[in-house]
Amino acid sequence: MSDRGKNGRYRKGHVLSKMENNSQWKGDEVGYSAIHSFIKRHLPKPNRCKKCNKIKSLDLTNISGKYLRDLIDWEWLCRSCHMISDGRINNLAQNLPKEIRSEIARKREANKK
Ligand SMILES: [Zn+2]
Repeated sequence: MSDRGKNGRYRKGHVLSKMENNSQWKGDEVGYSAIHSFIKRHLPKPNRCKKCNKIKSLDLTNISGKYLRDLIDWEWLCRSCHMISDGRINNLAQNLPKEIRSEIARKREANKK
């Protein structure tokens, strides 16, 4: 009985240390997809988006931007909430050429009058 318990513990520790010694585990690309699939397996996918509460196809979204191997750092969001939380929509506006941005500003001013 006690032998079985020891074996179980040994095997678990063995797998863990094997993963930590793997240098690829710490690589950004490999690390990200490994963490992504780890979270996908452990964080149950809801039917609705966590933010807007709509039934849509959901993306697994990182909250802190640090891609922690921790369930609390991840949530399921729909595509549009995902883009907002990523700041991708803001970035899009900032990446517009100067002429277009000043054109938009001019039109906004014109609308005020
Ligand atoms: Zn949403």
